[in-house]
Amino acid sequence: VRNSSVENLQNVDLVIIGGGCAGMSAAISAHKNGIRDILILERSSYLGGVLKQCIHNGFGIHRFGQDLTGSEYAKRYTDEIDRLGISFLTDTFVLSLTQDHDITAISPAGGILRIRAKAVILAMGCRERPRGALTIPGTRPAGIFSAGTAQRYLNLEGYIVGKKIVILGSGDIGLIMAREFAIEGSEVLAVAEIMPYSSGLIRNIVQCLEDFHIPLYYNTTVTRIEGTERVTGVWLSQVDASRKPVPGTERFVACDTLVLSVGLIPENELCSEAGIELSSDTGGAVVDDSFQTSVPGVFACGNALHVHDLVDFVSMESEVAGERAAQFIRGKSDTASVVRAEPGFGVMALVPQRVRLTGAEDRIKFQFRPRQRFENAEIRITSDGCRISSVKKRVLTPGEMCELSLERSSIHSDLKVEVIGL
Ligand SMILES: Cc1cc2nc3c(=O)[nH]c(=O)nc-3n(C[C@H](O)[C@H](O)[C@H](O)COP(=O)(O)OP(=O)(O)OC[C@H]3O[C@@H](n4cnc5c(N)ncnc54)[C@H](O)[C@@H]3O)c2cc1C
Repeated sequence: VRNSSVENLQNVDLVIIGGGCAGMSAAISAHKNGIRDILILERSSYLGGVLKQCIHNGFGIHRFGQDLTGSEYAKRYTDEIDRLGISFLTDTFVLSLTQDHDITAISPAGGILRIRAKAVILAMGCRERPRGALTIPGTRPAGIFSAGTAQRYLNLEGYIVGKKIVILGSGDIGLIMAREFAIEGSEVLAVAEIMPYSSGLIRNIVQCLEDFHIPLYYNTTVTRIEGTERVTGVWLSQVDASRKPVPGTERFVACDTLVLSVGLIPENELCSEAGIELSSDTGGAVVDDSFQTSVPGVFACGNALHVHDLVDFVSMESEVAGERAAQFIRGKSDTASVVRAEPGFGVMALVPQRVRLTGAEDRIKFQFRPRQRFENAEIRITSDGCRISSVKKRVLTPGEMCELSLERSSIHSDLKVEVIGL
């Protein structure tokens, strides 16, 4: 890892917070759009973010037309960062950001760094929901891991977290880890999912569970954890339609490890201090179609903005954010009027939430997740009660992000995006 000199780093054109896929993609794009004075600040000791611990394939099919592992995907970007000579500081934790783009960071090598940027891109990724957020009764023994932590132990540090494993939640990281545990010789006894559907990709249910004969129980949750020193087992119960455990359905599963894959939360503590408007729907910043937040010159992308299903879409989105940040630095940002885009029935995590009525691109791209599984549904965009765009879909599931685009010229007032079952 190449660390840049930290001396005299008072003014920088573009500071990118987070050196994962989003931060690197945005940096490369800003460079291609003429910005040379770029600094990536990354709290860990390497660039690449969570990709470095993803040794399985399935990355890059949309972005590069190739099936890569996560680490191979990351290497394409770290190589490009090196080739372009983009500066970065690792082991550097950003502590605060202000409305004036003043950044305070801390690192063992540089101490406290104070930097003023012309523009800032927020690319801090997301973190996993911990056990504490679930309030599962029982003891507090060793042997409970979040799926990402287990992935890190196994793939970066070489430790197997347990021999008999139950996984709670069927998010993608949990599904991927079920397969990795099985390949490494651990026994995955069950994947319990409280909802009647998985929040993971269909391809992961097939390739990670069905191909390895790992049972997936829907409408099921962990209602108690047993064990003093180490987990000795968990109680699984079925739940009713309101997700309450059904008495009499409890069954004990003896295991030494419980792995949690129960959701991701965008990392956005920095936003509050800067007064950046956050969306309670996505957990990320509210942005317009140039990925600019409510604070001019501060942009957001990647999992810090909304939790993505595939890294390829993180790259594509972050490239746009990098290009728009470059335009802002060159003084080319417009002050177009803005309308709101609201999620309607069946829609969650809609991005962007604001749309400029004028802008360089003719089409606006929206992304969202369906709130539930739909079969034969129509995605509809309305404005003033009139339908201005619609598309029919055979299947929509919460595990897969939906995308649709709209002619900018067709937008005159606030929009609503909704899913209608046909
Ligand atoms: C555990 C886990 C496993 C995943 N597995 C897969 C998978 O198998 N396949 C797939 O397609 N997608 C997977 N994803 C999704 C994947 O994270 C995204 O698709 C993509 O890699 C996210 O890129 P990002 O840059 O937005 O976030 P990240 O890769 O998380 O990068 C964010 C970076 O910001 C840094 N950072 C955060 N806060 C600060 C701060 N205050 N100061 C400085 N630096 C900071 C972090 O250290 C991190 O390096 C996984 C996600 C997680 C959390």
